[in-house]
Amino acid sequence: MSRILPADGVEFEFTVPVVVIGGGAAGMVAALAAHEQGAGVLVLERDALPQGSTALSAGLVPAPGTRWQRDAGIEDSPERFAADIIAKAKGEPDPAAVARVAQAVGPALEWLADRYGLPFSVVDNFSYPGHSARRMHGLPSRSGAELIDRLRGAVETAGIDVLCEAHVTALYADGALVRGVEITRPDGSVERVGCGALILACNGYGGNRALVERHVPELADALYFGHPGNQGDALLWGEALGAATRHLSGHQGHGSVAHPAGILVTWATITEGGVQVNAQGQRFSNEAQGYSEQAAIVLRQPDGIAWTVFDERIAAIARQFEDFRQAEAMGAVLSADTPAELARLMRIDADALTATLADIDRLKATGGTDCFGRDFTGAAPLVPPYRAVRVTGALFHTQGGLVVDDEARVLDGNGARLPNLYAAGGAACGVSGSKASGYLSGNGLLTAVALGRIAGSAAASAAKEETNR
Ligand SMILES: Cc1cc2nc3c(=O)[nH]c(=O)nc-3n(C[C@H](O)[C@H](O)[C@H](O)COP(=O)(O)OP(=O)(O)OC[C@H]3O[C@@H](n4cnc5c(N)ncnc54)[C@H](O)[C@@H]3O)c2cc1C
Repeated sequence: MSRILPADGVEFEFTVPVVVIGGGAAGMVAALAAHEQGAGVLVLERDALPQGSTALSAGLVPAPGTRWQRDAGIEDSPERFAADIIAKAKGEPDPAAVARVAQAVGPALEWLADRYGLPFSVVDNFSYPGHSARRMHGLPSRSGAELIDRLRGAVETAGIDVLCEAHVTALYADGALVRGVEITRPDGSVERVGCGALILACNGYGGNRALVERHVPELADALYFGHPGNQGDALLWGEALGAATRHLSGHQGHGSVAHPAGILVTWATITEGGVQVNAQGQRFSNEAQGYSEQAAIVLRQPDGIAWTVFDERIAAIARQFEDFRQAEAMGAVLSADTPAELARLMRIDADALTATLADIDRLKATGGTDCFGRDFTGAAPLVPPYRAVRVTGALFHTQGGLVVDDEARVLDGNGARLPNLYAAGGAACGVSGSKASGYLSGNGLLTAVALGRIAGSAAASAAKEETNR
């Protein structure tokens, strides 16, 4: 459905200076930024209610040097954050693209708080793999549903038009200049809206099986945990208009989705000293490297299943997340006073699990590193009552996409700007490189918020210049 049609002779019902496709975090932030510049903005969202993958996420946005960090005594800077991003992705991302978002995201969160009343706070009681400072920021419920609801509220209060059940099924273009969009309504009727500038905020291709098979074959059969409407339209339109694309195999996986409950179990369960075992009660990897690469590793275990094992102290930290509370309410989190009793509930071999947990205790007591390379120095021992959740690996979202410049303008293969096309969030190439292991926690909402704001402001300025010409 992601077609490019000739604009020649097409009559648009009306024309808006800035059209945004997609009502997730990237689209809502872009709309707010464009509106503030005085541009007329229209957000087009295929669903009846804008939610996107943003609503499914934990809503945590990494940002360095914020006032919330300063209040909590956390030292951080955009340079330090950029170094963490580049280290996690082993030098693959473009340093300029990384610096751009690392610098923009902190001010963007403070702007959303000050101007639109989003009550962010910093998660200061556990660390995510690869982050050298505690810099994840979230709303009170620590859920993406709250993030998108509050962004939508801000957009509505600002008086920005959001058209729902408005599936953009084609772009109208003269060469690479986008003149407008075709919207298909649920009853099959079609409307045509002209645009001065177009912001693609319709995320990546995680929901498009053929594109996942092509670009992320190792997760082709994995559970897709993101929004099904993210069908790769931005990528397909961009490619057809001559845009450069990059790192299309890059993605965010997750190795700890409760199964069959289908609920994200926070990785704090691991970073705070928990481990994963397989159905034989044995460990199989260095889980501490990161949850993204752990998706494919878990899927290689018998039946594609693992158990995340931790204790009540860690569960208390995890309970700040709505998802975790839901998993507990659904009975997905098992509890027992001994490893043998836990194994009985898990229906796995009790001797094997007891031996595995004894090994972990020993490593923690001696500050040792295991045969997979996980360093247990400083980790607190697991103490009764123990907890376990049955999990599987899943694809959360894709990280590759359209190459953009410092104004979030889409570039062609020669590095030249397409005339009026912008991309933000999962529609744009992220900062995770080409592998799952390159994904640093929060890279998803990082580019949604940071590039969303950049794209909105730049598209509005360009549309104004065009009007004044
Ligand atoms: C379970 C889960 C947990 C996550 N946790 C985190 C986290 O804590 N921190 C983090 O940084 N990232 C996290 N992520 C990733 C994060 O959710 C995404 O990177 C981010 O939400 C992308 O925002 P977006 O606005 O680009 O896309 P989305 O929020 O997916 O919005 C895109 C919107 O575009 C609409 N759309 C698509 N095509 C069209 C079309 N043709 N016409 C009209 N509308 C269209 C869709 O319906 C959708 O509403 C998580 C992801 C998942 C799945």
